[in-house]
Amino acid sequence: MTASRDYDVVVVGAGPVGLVAALLLAKQGISVLLLEKERSMFPLPRAAHIDHEIMRIFQSINVAEEVASSSEVSTRYEFLNVSGDVLMRFDTGRAHALSGWPPSNMIHQPSIEQILRARVAACDFVDARFGAAYRDHKSSGDVVTVHFDTQGKASKMSCRFLIGCDGANSAVRANAGMSLVDLGFSERWLVIDTKVIDSSRLPQHNLQICDPERPTTSVRMGAGRHRWEFMLKAEENEDEVSAPASVANLLSGWDVDGAVELERTATYTFEAKVANQWMHDGVVIAGDAAHLMPPFAGQGLCSGIRDVENLTWKLGAILAGRADKSLLSSYQTEREPHVRAMIDLAVMMGKVVCVTDPEAALARDKNLIETRRANGDASGAIPNPKLVTGLLQENSQIAGELFPQFTHQKKRSDDVFGPGAWLIGESDGIDRNTLRAAGIGVPSLASFSDLVSQWLDDKGYSSVLIRPDRVIFGGGNAAELVSVYVEGLCGEVRATTR
Ligand SMILES: Cc1cc2nc3c(=O)[nH]c(=O)nc-3n(C[C@H](O)[C@H](O)[C@H](O)COP(=O)(O)OP(=O)(O)OC[C@H]3O[C@@H](n4cnc5c(N)ncnc54)[C@H](O)[C@@H]3O)c2cc1C
Repeated sequence: MTASRDYDVVVVGAGPVGLVAALLLAKQGISVLLLEKERSMFPLPRAAHIDHEIMRIFQSINVAEEVASSSEVSTRYEFLNVSGDVLMRFDTGRAHALSGWPPSNMIHQPSIEQILRARVAACDFVDARFGAAYRDHKSSGDVVTVHFDTQGKASKMSCRFLIGCDGANSAVRANAGMSLVDLGFSERWLVIDTKVIDSSRLPQHNLQICDPERPTTSVRMGAGRHRWEFMLKAEENEDEVSAPASVANLLSGWDVDGAVELERTATYTFEAKVANQWMHDGVVIAGDAAHLMPPFAGQGLCSGIRDVENLTWKLGAILAGRADKSLLSSYQTEREPHVRAMIDLAVMMGKVVCVTDPEAALARDKNLIETRRANGDASGAIPNPKLVTGLLQENSQIAGELFPQFTHQKKRSDDVFGPGAWLIGESDGIDRNTLRAAGIGVPSLASFSDLVSQWLDDKGYSSVLIRPDRVIFGGGNAAELVSVYVEGLCGEVRATTR
């Protein structure tokens, strides 16, 4: 696919988002140079939770089973006041969500990165270079030249697209003239990660303890880990709070002496920020380079992985000549509102937890307990938002929702239907060359036929067109759907706002 360039795409940063981006591109036969400045993996505690959509994306790059075997399904997330009264409860359960995976999965981020790194190492299309630090880049026409340093030696490589997955302090973002806009949330927390010795002595559910004296989080993680997070007081010094005696004191209230072994601690300032611009001149940013959110909804990494799922199929279509490069504008159009909704959710949860004024805490408790009494608990997980604007059929109720993944006799429908876009339902009379040129398949539904027909009947559509990222483009007359989708690929992105 490469024409007079060294690589189709250069990805900067082999954190989880960069690794997933490289694997999603490689799956489409796209050549990738992956640059990572560090030789070893980032050692500090971070993501503990991923949702069902991320498991489905992991499934598409053949790592889901391995990730699942190092994860633990979370069935309940509770916000308690200092007396133990329930303020908010989310019963997520074990039943499979829309994507065909449990709604809430607790992970150990370094274990997941190890799985992704091993997959990248085995992948012919990815040239992964560790200890290679991106310095800057220059865009000219359809070529981006990337300058980087490996052990003090300067090198350059050319590509069609550069993706900055280089985290919160992204140099790619800065060099491309983009910046983060502060959305006004900032709280310092100490994170304590432990290895579990006796899980029967630990809380069985994820908890936020809304104690105004010391807001505290307790979360189960995958790979035999448990985490506590403690909010710092304004006058507290980060080094003093992280000292062994202070850590022991903070954990003493949980009675876990002998049940866990301290693995590491770190202090973080939890923030909410979003980039003003997500792409410019062949350069795109994704993951923490494009947005930051407090961890209370467990959605920072999930959002980054959704970014590259959205981005990479579009890059694939452009590189294969199936789409105009203007299709890329739909990346920010689609992802930014989704990310902002996730930030709003995380900040709402953070504002419930991080109350330190005792009177305000009492008022919060009263309000939430009354609300819960009146309305009951949120049933299941909070549903992820759908796409509301971008490459979607106009005025369609179903456009922007995720197409479900069906499970039947231990098989998953995505595996059977295969990659690419799908036209599902009636497709008679549609020119197969048109479909092929747009990368649309008409998958054989095999043993899922009854389930899919039932779903179409329930939704009231004869046909639906599903994008490669499993977002529903629209539903209705198949010929019309294909024609509008093809126009969209060719640059007429229909912005729909509902
Ligand atoms: C305490 C905490 C808890 C969290 N909990 C959750 C959670 O439960 N669920 C969730 O979804 N998210 C959570 N998050 C957020 C999540 O950890 C991040 O969103 C995620 O790690 C971001 O991944 P990334 O790949 O975008 O960036 P990073 O993981 O930061 O990776 C960036 C990579 O780029 C490399 N790099 C940087 N500069 C250069 C350069 N110049 N050249 C080459 N390489 C470079 C870095 O070395 C690094 O490897 C949490 C975060 C914190 C701090």
